[in-house]
Amino acid sequence: MFRRKLFLLFIGLAVSGSIAGFFPSITAGVANASSPASFDAAGKQGEDSISRFDLGRWLVIDETSHWAPEELETLQRVMQHTFDALAQAGLDGNAVFAGYAFRRGQGEYANNRNTAYAVVNHANQEIVLSDSVLLKENEFFIYHELGHIVDRYSGRALNEQFHMLTLQVEGALALHDWTTVKGFYLRGQAHIDKPEATADAFALWVWVTAAGEEIPQFDDTPEHARPQAIVEVFTQAFNAAFAGE
Ligand SMILES: [Zn+2]
Repeated sequence: MFRRKLFLLFIGLAVSGSIAGFFPSITAGVANASSPASFDAAGKQGEDSISRFDLGRWLVIDETSHWAPEELETLQRVMQHTFDALAQAGLDGNAVFAGYAFRRGQGEYANNRNTAYAVVNHANQEIVLSDSVLLKENEFFIYHELGHIVDRYSGRALNEQFHMLTLQVEGALALHDWTTVKGFYLRGQAHIDKPEATADAFALWVWVTAAGEEIPQFDDTPEHARPQAIVEVFTQAFNAAFAGE
């Protein structure tokens, strides 16, 4: 797939309940009959049921949220990769993301402050995607939002484990406990926002291991970033966070 440089910065502000009331959750069931045949995840039928993804259940469709066929293909691909990655660890994506649905946001950004490509609103369980994600091949940010949901599903254990393990790797060099350890964040703001670093680490983990994509570069990726180490440590963190599942 053609890759361009990925931009941006302020993603994934987990929108809190404050705006929940403006977005009634309308999770229209899109019957299989209305989905193109190609969305039936070719070749997936024989696999374990926990990795099976059926896009129809995951879309908000209303007056403002409507989807182009290629956008649905992107979502199908992203979610199948995510389900596959979770399934390797024994997790069922249908359980992890239960109740959530994608809303097609209008315009370039997904929030009112024009800073986010995508946001997840946990209050009404909507993941809002903007033109900046869907028209510009920036689907890394979809994985990022899904990472916030997975962390929440773990009761924040994923975030705790990831940052604890990065501290162990770097030991006494990590002086500032409130920041993400040097090398373990891909984008600037994640240095001082640990859940952001964790969501990016989840995105990178699926991106590299399940989607088979190359390491992404962002405008604000620091020189010292260690993507491979992020993936390795995140794998351990993920297994530790869900050890009891
Ligand atoms: Zn985020």
